[in-house]
Amino acid sequence: MSIFAKNYWYTKMMELATSDARVKTQLFHFVDVLPVLQTVEQKRDHLIEYLSAPYGQKSWPMVLKLISSLVRVPLLDRAMVGIADFQVKQMAKNFIVGNSLEEALPKLLNARSKKIAFTLDILGEGVFSDYEAQFYFDKYKTLIEGLGEASKSWKKISPIDESSLGDIPPVNISIKISALDCRMDSMSFEASLKRLIARLEPIMELAMKKNVFINFDMEQFALKDLTRELFKQLLLMPKFKNYRFFGIVCQAYLKSSLSDIYEWIEIAKQRGTPFSIRLVKGAYWDYETIVANQNGWESPVFAKKVESDANYEACAKVLLDAFPAIELALGSHNIRSISYALAYAEEIQLPENSLEVQMLYGMADPFKESLVKRGVRIREYAPVGEMLPGLSYLVRRLLENSANDSFLKQSFLDNTGIHHLLRSPKS
Ligand SMILES: Cc1cc2nc3c(=O)[nH]c(=O)nc-3n(C[C@H](O)[C@H](O)[C@H](O)COP(=O)(O)OP(=O)(O)OC[C@H]3O[C@@H](n4cnc5c(N)ncnc54)[C@H](O)[C@@H]3O)c2cc1C
Repeated sequence: MSIFAKNYWYTKMMELATSDARVKTQLFHFVDVLPVLQTVEQKRDHLIEYLSAPYGQKSWPMVLKLISSLVRVPLLDRAMVGIADFQVKQMAKNFIVGNSLEEALPKLLNARSKKIAFTLDILGEGVFSDYEAQFYFDKYKTLIEGLGEASKSWKKISPIDESSLGDIPPVNISIKISALDCRMDSMSFEASLKRLIARLEPIMELAMKKNVFINFDMEQFALKDLTRELFKQLLLMPKFKNYRFFGIVCQAYLKSSLSDIYEWIEIAKQRGTPFSIRLVKGAYWDYETIVANQNGWESPVFAKKVESDANYEACAKVLLDAFPAIELALGSHNIRSISYALAYAEEIQLPENSLEVQMLYGMADPFKESLVKRGVRIREYAPVGEMLPGLSYLVRRLLENSANDSFLKQSFLDNTGIHHLLRSPKS
């Protein structure tokens, strides 16, 4: 494949990143900063700084040596910067469904026609100003209003627009609370909660009016209690108490996840109307581990991948047992984790279409297709937005896809045997 080919950089980068930890760090720092830089000179210096062999490093990939040499040649620097810019944008396109809703919508509707539902994620998190928070608040509202209205003319598709409890909204939106308030701080819990409730209440009211599903994504551990309390208080408000289409995420890599789930089950019973839980393993493992180590805290996440895998299965079991008080969405690309939950649902004879499987846009497409063929309800998590606010998302996906323990890496890159991939995490 030539370096001008559409996906050359992504394929090469994953290959390089998975072969050497030092190369991986340099490459991901390179991607993380490049889109922020403005001038050719800045980008050229950045290319030289991050793609040249670090001082004292004896072995360094040939392709990186070549790029960092060529970019030093006058007249060639512009071309090299252009190629790097293009390749990073191409890479982002693997994971981002479109820069705008206009660009994304035809793709989402096309996926629906293939029986893949969507949950829309507006790229952007951890805002730094009231202006930005207002921007995202307005954006969520416009999206709910516009898509809710448009979806009235969409044809109902089975099984993605229904569950065993009845019809479900074709429009599903995932929200990150850190996009909605810049002063959010778990140390000033009550004040943060009050401001967030003021933000979320109108969003949820509109969603209810427009028949839209709202899901709260889960972010760093530091925001977990705030996110949970916020969701709980909103869920129990009389005006929202009868609406089934709210959901929250639970991260099975957290040691506290199972006890959180038991609390959710109590809340669901108290509420009387079901809500959803998307069970994932968690996307901030490196971050949580580093923060805990730096501060000398006990880590909130499991240390071993098999522990997260085993806990995922334990959480899925408890959640399936709680049906219909809680509806489960399995957010995973791991066939072992998904199969375990599907098999357990069958074993306890849950009605057909009682749970759904969710996967990220641009990842594990062959798995999605085969689950569709099996008649499983599938939803794709579809990020929409510009490259800059999407950088954290992009870097999380790169880290995830290049991790040695990743199920996708083991199945698609390492060709690991089926017995190893499907073995029980407890074995
Ligand atoms: C639809 C969808 C929505 C999502 N929403 C969220 C969200 O709101 N919040 C969020 O945090 N994540 C979210 N994720 C990401 C998710 O948490 C995982 O990062 C991702 O799906 C990979 O897990 P897996 O089961 O697919 O793959 P696997 O390869 O089986 O698992 C990888 C995961 O294992 C865990 N892990 C890796 N190494 C270790 C270790 N040494 N010790 C312990 N655990 C380890 C990590 O959680 C890692 O992501 C979402 C994923 C999907 C598919």
